[in-house]
Amino acid sequence: MHTRRNIMALGAAGLASSCAAARGFSEGLARDFGHAPPHRAVLPPVLVSEERIIRIDVGLRPYRPTGFRVAREAFGDKTLVHNYGHGGGGITLSWGTAKLAVDLGYDPSKPDCAVLGCGAVGLATARLLQERGANVRIYARDLPPNTTSNVAGAQWWPASVYDWRRASDAFVAQHFEAARFAFRRYQSLVGDAYGVSWERNYNLSNEPIERYPAREDSPMRALVVNQRDLDPREHNFPRPYVRQFDTMMIETPLYLRRMEADVRLAGAEIVVRRFDDVSQVQALPERTIFNCTGLGAGALFGDTEIVPVRGQLVILLPQPEIDYNTIANEGYMFGRRDGIVLGGTYDRGEWSMEPDPQAIAGIISNHKSIFGAMRA
Ligand SMILES: Cc1cc2nc3c(=O)[nH]c(=O)nc-3n(C[C@H](O)[C@H](O)[C@H](O)COP(=O)(O)OP(=O)(O)OC[C@H]3O[C@@H](n4cnc5c(N)ncnc54)[C@H](O)[C@@H]3O)c2cc1C
Repeated sequence: MHTRRNIMALGAAGLASSCAAARGFSEGLARDFGHAPPHRAVLPPVLVSEERIIRIDVGLRPYRPTGFRVAREAFGDKTLVHNYGHGGGGITLSWGTAKLAVDLGYDPSKPDCAVLGCGAVGLATARLLQERGANVRIYARDLPPNTTSNVAGAQWWPASVYDWRRASDAFVAQHFEAARFAFRRYQSLVGDAYGVSWERNYNLSNEPIERYPAREDSPMRALVVNQRDLDPREHNFPRPYVRQFDTMMIETPLYLRRMEADVRLAGAEIVVRRFDDVSQVQALPERTIFNCTGLGAGALFGDTEIVPVRGQLVILLPQPEIDYNTIANEGYMFGRRDGIVLGGTYDRGEWSMEPDPQAIAGIISNHKSIFGAMRA
């Protein structure tokens, strides 16, 4: 009969010879580090091949160099509240700027509100209005899954939202306030129902990493979780400098479908309608109007600052073992459950929704070179 003691003895004897080499390795590490050896993560590589592509996505980030616009203005006998222009971080910031907009413009004595737009920003704005007791009607040209929000890689981190040389201190403070609120709100949605989950990011670099994801003296640093610079022996990426940090990921197809269901369940009507002119907006029956039209705000409300920053994404078959993201100079990989997202193109001023074959080939070959060189 095997007792616990002799199983342990057998195990120890059996393991002794096979572990000799490994022990030598780990003792060496322990000496170098002066404490217990670090865990060496051997991560599985993404299988990058043309055969595994399930689709190509193209989207236009609604970018304003001075930052998103949350502002209130009189609109004839109505109130108009803008909430648009979140660049490459509109999914991330949506709940936060929705809070700023609702605080700024909601008047409980006039509970009937119109929300223009049914992307991440319009839906979050509609939900917060409903939570304050408003009666909401959403008007939008496109509904999920046909919005820019559906296309987003959707890492929770406000990247490429503004140009720090152009943004005011007041904007930077507002940006942080929005990010902080959104960070908390998304945490309440973690789980399968909304497709929000925590995931590890690895920033890969040939140079020491100093500023990404946030500078040490930036308030945004408070929202970076579990940041650590890895020793080269702790990872199998083909780069000398690797910084890990954890963020949430949002599976936008599921998330937006669920958000749309939530606003309907709470009583909102959704009207499919395109506005070509402000006079059509002016004629709406609601007294308070929240403008969440993203890039569409440029033409509709005459904002000449907003520009498209086109992004192209190659989506590969899901690989359940890939539960991490990489961010490198050559592009990013998001290991989402609904598909592996490869991206990293930023074409400022480009309106075309046609994929550019050269850019797509570049995304694929860049990621082949990263994942093909991962040490086993
Ligand atoms: C390739 C790519 C990757 C991205 N990755 C990330 C990321 O990792 N993390 C992140 O946070 N963000 C990311 N983004 C950015 C994010 O997708 C956008 O900032 C966000 O989707 C903007 O949301 P929105 O609701 O303002 O706009 P949209 O989703 O575009 O929604 C706008 C709504 O307004 C409606 N509308 C517009 N004009 C009119 C009109 N004239 N009349 C009626 N309705 C109108 C539209 O039909 C739509 O319903 C990425 C974007 C791209 C393209």
